[in-house]
Amino acid sequence: MCGIVGIHGEDNVVFDIYEALLMLQHRGQDAAGIVTYDGHFHLKKDNGLVSDVITPDSFNHLTGAIGIGHVRYRTAGNMDPTAAQPFIINSPYGIALIHNGNLTNYNELKHIITEEDNRYLNSSSDSEMLLNVLGHELQTDAERQLAPDVFFGVMKNVYKRLTGSYSVIGLIAGQGMFAFRDPHGIRPLIYGKRQTATGGVEYMIASESVALTSNGFEVVEDIQPGEVIYIDENKKVHKQICAEKIEHRACIFEYVYLARPDSLMDNVSVYKSRLRMGEQLAKKIKDSGIEIDVVIPVPDTARTAAVTLAYALGVKYREGLIKNRYIGRTFIMPVQAERQKSIRRKLNPIPLELKGKKVLIVDDSIVRGNTSRKIVELVREQGAEKVYFASCAPPLKFPCMYGVDMPTKSEFVANNLSVAEIAKSIKADAVFYQDLDDLIESVKPPKSINRKFCTACFDGNYPTPEITEAYLENMAIEKGDKDLKMQLL
Ligand code: SF4
Repeated sequence: MCGIVGIHGEDNVVFDIYEALLMLQHRGQDAAGIVTYDGHFHLKKDNGLVSDVITPDSFNHLTGAIGIGHVRYRTAGNMDPTAAQPFIINSPYGIALIHNGNLTNYNELKHIITEEDNRYLNSSSDSEMLLNVLGHELQTDAERQLAPDVFFGVMKNVYKRLTGSYSVIGLIAGQGMFAFRDPHGIRPLIYGKRQTATGGVEYMIASESVALTSNGFEVVEDIQPGEVIYIDENKKVHKQICAEKIEHRACIFEYVYLARPDSLMDNVSVYKSRLRMGEQLAKKIKDSGIEIDVVIPVPDTARTAAVTLAYALGVKYREGLIKNRYIGRTFIMPVQAERQKSIRRKLNPIPLELKGKKVLIVDDSIVRGNTSRKIVELVREQGAEKVYFASCAPPLKFPCMYGVDMPTKSEFVANNLSVAEIAKSIKADAVFYQDLDDLIESVKPPKSINRKFCTACFDGNYPTPEITEAYLENMAIEKGDKDLKMQLL
């Protein structure tokens, strides 16, 4: 998971890109970068948060009325700064590109790109690979002025070569800005526009609508699965569906955990979907007949669902766990030891809300069970009489191959255990999981009853056919090797 933004504006765009990246910081905290263009590319990227990488002096040299920015979340355990984005290639034209997602045919593409297309890769990033695939296809059809139809023709070939998830924004020197979304629309991508005081128009494309609205851009629409948008030098917008087989299967986990609640994705409010998750979960807990005195969310993601859950159960909602805001999200820390330590640094209890109470803890999901167990222990230490645990998501059982760093299959606590055994494992008196159908019901747009989602991490139903049992096994071996290397460093 990463955050991406591009602006085709009237004046220097670096300030707005910086602001937008701050709004997308939750999507990646490992590296950040911006490239702008004013006749030359100007690039600043490195490991670190947006505010660490884009320092005040960066604003002076990141000049230009068109630019793109990225926040990176490593999925492959690689903290090499050469993997920070944007990437740039000099030919044809000069292209800069940013990517959110994960190419599942990286190994095959690497062989073709280097051995047959004779291109050079400077990093192990699939995003750099994607840029080279585009560069190679565009090379053949490069004309001095890149016509939209020519670009769409090129993109049809690019789509044929890629598998996996990819939401992409790029700049072509002297030509304009482009963006595209994979044929399943797994990762989000949305665009909007803004009128300037002088009567001009500016466009922003971003991972989440919050980046647009917080910068005064009005949402135009989501970029559709398999769709390419090309905003030319004169800011004329051209769009075309260029992928052959399209089936919308947006990541359902974006709504559970990844996205900000104040974003709208594919016409669904993340906030409202989380409210509905709480209502759905309450039905199941009511049926169990257990007694609860207080509902306590694990901040921050689970708060929204916990509000409606408590209301539907008719019990008190209280903040019994306080988050230290200056500690990063533990889920995206790749090394187990680092993760174990950070749980206690991150949450502090309010004993008066827990002592002698039958407490229902609500979290967005249960991954390995280590965090959940620590939280249950923490609540018990405060004198809670009973500790129940509810997950807004169904049991996580399969790794994500589309850009969210998850454990291998065998590491998920839900993999080989029943719900009762999971409760025992995390030391809770009972565990309640959202049913997958109820989760889908919570996220479905009101006017699109047939909308499908990627639910692979819950049911193993991967939208792209190359993800087989053998593929997962290979990935587990590769990931094990990489995690081991990271721990030895
Ligand atoms: Fe999202 Fe899970 Fe699908 Fe990955 S596997 S894209 S996290 S729903």
